[in-house]
Amino acid sequence: MTEDYLHLLWKSKRVPFHKISPINAKEIIVKNSGEHNESQKGPDFTFGSVNIDGIDFYGNIEIHVKSSDWYRHQHQSDNAYNNVILHVVYVYDKPVYQNGVLLPTIELKSHIDKEHFLKYQLGKLNKSEFPCENLLTQIDVVHLETMKISAFTKRMEAKSRILRDLNLPNDSVFYHLIASAFGSSINKKGFIELTQKIPFQQLKQISSKQQQFQLLLAESGLMQSSSKEKSTSIWHFKGTRPGNFPDIRLKQFAQFVSKYDFDTSFIYFTPDKIQEEFYKMVDDFWKDDFKQSKKISRSFSNLILINAVVPFMWFIGCQQEDERLQGKSIELLERLSSEKNKYMNKWKKCGVTIKNAFDSQSLLSLYQYHCSRKKCLTCGVGIKLLEE
Ligand code: SF4
Repeated sequence: MTEDYLHLLWKSKRVPFHKISPINAKEIIVKNSGEHNESQKGPDFTFGSVNIDGIDFYGNIEIHVKSSDWYRHQHQSDNAYNNVILHVVYVYDKPVYQNGVLLPTIELKSHIDKEHFLKYQLGKLNKSEFPCENLLTQIDVVHLETMKISAFTKRMEAKSRILRDLNLPNDSVFYHLIASAFGSSINKKGFIELTQKIPFQQLKQISSKQQQFQLLLAESGLMQSSSKEKSTSIWHFKGTRPGNFPDIRLKQFAQFVSKYDFDTSFIYFTPDKIQEEFYKMVDDFWKDDFKQSKKISRSFSNLILINAVVPFMWFIGCQQEDERLQGKSIELLERLSSEKNKYMNKWKKCGVTIKNAFDSQSLLSLYQYHCSRKKCLTCGVGIKLLEE
């Protein structure tokens, strides 16, 4: 229950006054429910009038979810509340005295239409782009954590289904995922099309790494273009940072996949070892004289771990019915720094702490599957907020 809902009921006179038995009087007749004081200071309704056991009283009316909120809000030591003539509460859990006088009180709990309350709360949730933004910190964090795991699992399972439908051998699946990770969100399509033009098996039939590298560059159609022609329907420079330009990422991708033997057994290591081995592998690829491209940074290596290695682990975990592998992919994400993007900014504004890449990936999934579609009623957080 919320105080603002009780205010709405009182203001719109949706309270069945005639049915309510007073707590500490024989009879209370509400003659005028008063004027809503929206200033946030002082009693909730002013200029009210009630008849209590035959005597008319004129003054203020205060509304709370629990009668004990009177003390929690420190009204007992605030003179502005001395002229309260009626205390309206959802639950009467404590007698309330002001200046030694017991406050006349009515309890609404058994007179509230729960369905109306749920509709009101839902309407309130649905108004905002990010509906629960001001309420999230009010509920137990367990509800958000549960939703994070559920949304993350949904995302991983959706990705696994797409990978399974490709019907490719596992090394080709990993090649596809690596390409998609190098493309990030903007140039993903271009990278995936490139892997379709040069499938993994075809690439690896070429014995020279240098030739593999050159073939990928040539087939992309990107390296031959003049800078003016570089932005095409698949390759996008606009909206990306210079370090993320597709020609730079393409050279890095070509170097990575031409040097990598696609032995994926490292995914069976412990999460710390997977991270260590992956960094070592990347460092080794840029160590010798085959330095065709700018070395990929640690933060970009982390993005490959997040967007290629983790979904691959999940996919293999599904294939082999190995839940431990999926659990390990979560542990790996927990070792990596969170991503920074507009979605994470939205969550931070709601007061949500984002500690690592599991948090960012799961919150991104929650946003995509529930929040952005206003599916608060299928979200544990939304359901809890409606119940409060
Ligand atoms: S879907 Fe859940 S987390 Fe998202 S805005 Fe609604 S209540 Fe909040």
